[in-house]
Amino acid sequence: MPHDHDHSHSLLPPDPALRVRALETILTEKGLIDPAALDEIIDTYQSRIGPQIGAEVVARMWADDAFRQEMLTDPMPRLQDMEMYGRQGEHMVFVENTDAVHNVVVCTLCSCYPWPLLGIPPGWYKSDAYRARVVREPRAVLADFGIVVPEDKKVRVWDSTAEIRYLVVPQRPEGTDGMNIEGLAELVSRDSMIGTGLAKAPTA
Ligand code: FE
Repeated sequence: MPHDHDHSHSLLPPDPALRVRALETILTEKGLIDPAALDEIIDTYQSRIGPQIGAEVVARMWADDAFRQEMLTDPMPRLQDMEMYGRQGEHMVFVENTDAVHNVVVCTLCSCYPWPLLGIPPGWYKSDAYRARVVREPRAVLADFGIVVPEDKKVRVWDSTAEIRYLVVPQRPEGTDGMNIEGLAELVSRDSMIGTGLAKAPTA
C-alpha cells in the first residue's frame, strides 16, 4: 500500500518547546514528576546560578594565593563550604592559563558543564560543530572566538565527563593591582572560564 509522507509520523508537535511541554504534561499526569520542583530547578539555574559564581572564585584565586593553591589542588571541601556545589559540579577541576598554556573546555560526548559555577551552558557549547572542531583544530576555533594564541603557547583541550567538570582560570589582566574581589570578578566572563575568551581589561 502506498504511503505518502505529507503527514507526520509523530503525534508530538515539531517545536522542541512544545514537545518538552507535552512530555512534562505526561510525566506530571503519571505522577512521575512534581511540576513545582521542576520550576524550582529551572528558576535556580536561570536566575540564581550563573557565571558570576565562577567569576567570584577566579577573582579570589587571583587575589589570594593560598586560596588559589587550594582550588588547584583540592577544591571540593572549600566549594562545599561556600555552597558553590551541586549536581553537575560534584568533582571540579580548575585548569589555570599561564604564559605557556591556554586551556579550553569541551564535552565531546554531549554537553557536560560545571553548572554550580557557570549555570546553564550556552547553545554553541552543545553544538556538534564546537564539540568536534575544538578537538581537531582548537586554534582555529579559538580564532573564531577572537582569540589568537601565539604559536609558542600550548593549547590544551580538556574533555569533560559526567564525573569531572573543568573550569578555566584565565590569566589576570595587566593593570588590576589593588582591585578588590568584586571589581576583579567583573572582568571574568563566562567564556573566559570555558577558555573561548580572555579576562577583560579593566576600564580606566
Ligand atoms: Fe557531556
